Amino acid sequence: MAAPWTATILTLFPEMFPGPLGASLPGHALNSGLWALETVDIRQYACSKHRTVDDAPFGGGNGMVMRPDVLARAIDSTATGGEDETLILLTPRGAPLTQQRVRQFCRQRRLIVVCGRFEGVDERVVQARGLEEISIGDYVLSGGEPAAIVLVDACVRLLEGVVHAPEGLLDESFETGLLEYPHYTRPGTWEGRTVPEVLLSGHHGKVRQWRHDKAEQTTRERRPDLWSRYRATRE
Ligand code: SAH
Repeated sequence: MAAPWTATILTLFPEMFPGPLGASLPGHALNSGLWALETVDIRQYACSKHRTVDDAPFGGGNGMVMRPDVLARAIDSTATGGEDETLILLTPRGAPLTQQRVRQFCRQRRLIVVCGRFEGVDERVVQARGLEEISIGDYVLSGGEPAAIVLVDACVRLLEGVVHAPEGLLDESFETGLLEYPHYTRPGTWEGRTVPEVLLSGHHGKVRQWRHDKAEQTTRERRPDLWSRYRATRE
């Protein structure tokens, strides 16, 4: 069998993995060999006696910066330079991660993901190794590891065989350009609150229409950015 889709995480904290990726859906898939996870401990590629991986920023200022030489050795220990692998740096300065980009990552054979710490990494290694800079949102984490878990989780659930009813993936938020409609389950009345009548009607066409209308309404109200893009692609 060909090697499964693989995530290789470069980190100063390999003990953070698999973490949440070892439980539930991604964990079962990992144990079944539907994907593979590797970690590379960046500190092993430090040369100095104290295994230093960071240094003060040129130009002064707060915090420390990850050294390009150490990081490049860690990357070179694992990257093959093949077209079927993508090298990613997680950083708030990167392009916001989207479901569309996640789908593209799944079609690759391998993702190599660099997790930053401190103030971030030396700019030269980003250029020299052609790292694609990705952000998981407009807020600052203490390190790239939680972001790597988010990125890999989003990819793994789209891999073949991971989700048992993959047709369900198609209605989800962002797949159609809309946020998803709201969900309801038993009990039918809870704390005096009932469920929209149409969902109890057994009329599939009406249910579909109601869900579509709700998806449009929610997107229009909550995400004007997605809404205008959705409108534009339909015109
Ligand atoms: N000084 C940086 C923030 C460093 S946070 C700045 O202002 O842009 C330390 C590390 O956490 C980063 O190198 C990055 O790997 C990770 N990180 C923090 N926030 C992130 C985000 N929103 N998306 C992806 N990675 C993030």
